[in-house]
Amino acid sequence: MILMLTGCRVDKENNTDLLLGTAALLYSFNSSPAIYITIVSHNETDSRYDYYNTESGYLQMRNAIISMAQLFSRYGAQYHFQPDWRFLEAAKLYETPANMANTNNKNILRYLKEDLGHHVDPHSHESGGYNYADVAYLISQFGVDPGDIVGGFIQSSSDPSQIIWEKFRNPVYPLKYSSSGYSWGAHVLWGGGTMFHLGEDYRSGLIRPSSADNFFTHNPSGNLIALGNCSINSNLNIALDNLVLAIYNYKIASSNRIYNISMVVFEQEVVVGGPEVLKKYEDNLKKIDAYVKQGKVQWASLNKTVTDWQAGGEIPALLPCN
Ligand SMILES: [Zn+2]
Repeated sequence: MILMLTGCRVDKENNTDLLLGTAALLYSFNSSPAIYITIVSHNETDSRYDYYNTESGYLQMRNAIISMAQLFSRYGAQYHFQPDWRFLEAAKLYETPANMANTNNKNILRYLKEDLGHHVDPHSHESGGYNYADVAYLISQFGVDPGDIVGGFIQSSSDPSQIIWEKFRNPVYPLKYSSSGYSWGAHVLWGGGTMFHLGEDYRSGLIRPSSADNFFTHNPSGNLIALGNCSINSNLNIALDNLVLAIYNYKIASSNRIYNISMVVFEQEVVVGGPEVLKKYEDNLKKIDAYVKQGKVQWASLNKTVTDWQAGGEIPALLPCN
């Protein structure tokens, strides 16, 4: 619908047509759910991920990822798999023809993207000699485009060694794979946090952040787009209920804007917790599905959330989401 609207008769340089175009655009947002929900998973580099040291451990994690991704597909959900280097280095060793038999003979990254329609973005704590560009480079080695989304970053910090997002205003270059000649350019920031997640300010919506010191001030000419970090795992239902109430019941927030929320999941949690954890995820999916059927929430990739926001004129929105 938005694509059709961008083709409205605004090229006539006629005010009436321009106004009609604006009205049509507002109508389109009124008729489309304002809340965009995405599933995101991270793997990390700490000892909980020692599974990635052995082939049998890798396969346990791999099977957990496949179980999650197939479950999400059954609900029409959009899932972003955001790996760090430990998973990717293990995948280089263990994505063998025998191990790829249950993913249509494709490596797991290609299977997620090509066969299930999910997404793969880099996520990096910039540990162990690897930075974001190394992680993007590793993803590219599996025949998958790493895209332009930063899967986790620090909003602001007095410690310059932190992954402060402003460095992504320019292309970044690998450390570990510096001889590759690879560079990675980001465009979108997802998962902003503070060091150790202390005192975090969870919000829903999209902006172009001004600076590390002034992250939540929208700067229309900023060259990076940030999605709010409304992504509380165990409290997802409460956060989602609150968003729905604020927008559709109390009308505190305009339903003409775009609000984002993420359901965050971990393959490590599934390996340790087994079917109970998958059931917890499915309970969330059912809850979300009910809102989808009411037309209040839509499953969307992070990419679609961003492109719809751009097509709608980049109206900044930052609704508290705690
Ligand atoms: Zn992480």
